[in-house]
Amino acid sequence: MPGLGSSVTIDVPSAVPSSAKRAARLADRIVEDVVALGWPVGEVLGSEAELLERYKVSRAVFREAVRIVEHQQVVRTRRGPTGGLVITEPTVAAVIDAVVLYLHRVDARLDEVFEARILLEEISSQLATDRLDAASRKELEALIGGDGRACDPRTLHAMVASATRNPALELFVEVLSRVALLYSPDGLTLEQVAAELTHAHVHIAGALVAGDAPLATRRMRKHLEAEADFLRGRRSTRQLLPETVILSASNTGKGAEAVARNIARGILTRAMQPGELVGTEPELIEREGVSRALLREAVRLLEHHQIARMRRGPGGGLFVVRPSSSAVTDIAAIYLMRRGMQLGELAELRTGVEVAIAHLAAARVDDEGMARMRLALEHEATSTDADLAEAVHDLHAAVASVADNRVLQLVALVLIRLARLHQIERLAEGARQRIREEVFRAHNGIAEAVASGDRSLAAHRMRRHLDALAAAMG
Ligand SMILES: [Zn+2]
Ligand SMILES: [Zn+2]
Repeated sequence: MPGLGSSVTIDVPSAVPSSAKRAARLADRIVEDVVALGWPVGEVLGSEAELLERYKVSRAVFREAVRIVEHQQVVRTRRGPTGGLVITEPTVAAVIDAVVLYLHRVDARLDEVFEARILLEEISSQLATDRLDAASRKELEALIGGDGRACDPRTLHAMVASATRNPALELFVEVLSRVALLYSPDGLTLEQVAAELTHAHVHIAGALVAGDAPLATRRMRKHLEAEADFLRGRRSTRQLLPETVILSASNTGKGAEAVARNIARGILTRAMQPGELVGTEPELIEREGVSRALLREAVRLLEHHQIARMRRGPGGGLFVVRPSSSAVTDIAAIYLMRRGMQLGELAELRTGVEVAIAHLAAARVDDEGMARMRLALEHEATSTDADLAEAVHDLHAAVASVADNRVLQLVALVLIRLARLHQIERLAEGARQRIREEVFRAHNGIAEAVASGDRSLAAHRMRRHLDALAAAMG
């Protein structure tokens, strides 16, 4: 898959204007505060005046941050005397919408979806076998015993994922099994091969119940490979997501969402490229038949999802922008924080995913990939202590982009975002310099192994680095 990663930008923090950066940091701080409070949905975090006092920022930065956390569905603004920021929670539907929209925009292919799915479901099968409790065993035994015909094809996969008791695995397995079905051509569903599916599912469940993790993992892979073959065979030429685009991942008014969805659909169906003009503000107001205020709200949604951006002034208008994964990684990571994702769960999944990514990256590295890793290392080496918290993740993001699978890259970026929310980088003052040097050495070693194309060395170094990080975090 040459050059696939080239359509994805890596966010380089130094390129972001400082007020936007301050707003993004405040948004993170608000999420941290909501987490620290135990995420009490419906309670008021504070009034604007109280929060301005608490966070010590300008009103402009505060309002920009509020817009971000509203999009992330962490809070909503309530007006009036008892007003302020009311705590809400992101829904799994919002995460799925954001993932589908992003994968559509980058033209993710069936092969990328299944490569990621197989990796995640292998990890899921392994962990589920190790952790199978009485309740999960009973569910699987019922599936083995029943005729299974009325069963949703996603049920077995959801059961296995839930037996791992890892919220991120549950989320990714659900999202990707839904995304996989979107590649099914018109009207065709997996029900047409229900008997084969049931047979495969019963076999996987049998291996799990027998406690045979290698067998369960092997059967899961075989089953998913067969499913990919089936979908691939039914689709004549393109293996791309159909034009089913949803954009409801926001709690702003319905009207603005509908307008945003309409504009987004136009951009996608006409395959408009980054830099193309969608329309000037007066043109769009006219075309959509809406007020200026409503259009601006819709534009904010499009900007949040990195679909289009409004440029003011002469020659201005709404322009298509390059797809970026930041909105979807944000909402997925925040959804997982709300689900109570723990550090240990993050560590086990991150190791599984990033070790596989390092392996793939070493097999697929090209000149552009090497340049991206070099840039990340330079950025890390020259960052101030204050910026290091973000810069330490650059090399991981770069390696994920070199692996040349936009779906796996997205999964890795969600996990990296979670690591940032968990403040894995917030280290004790005295040890900071020593740990900084160790981390930088480890990152260099990983980049070197990937660049040299040595798959097992790259995987080995990534594992050693993540194990050391996990140990340091206790
Ligand atoms: Zn299945
Ligand atoms: Zn690292």
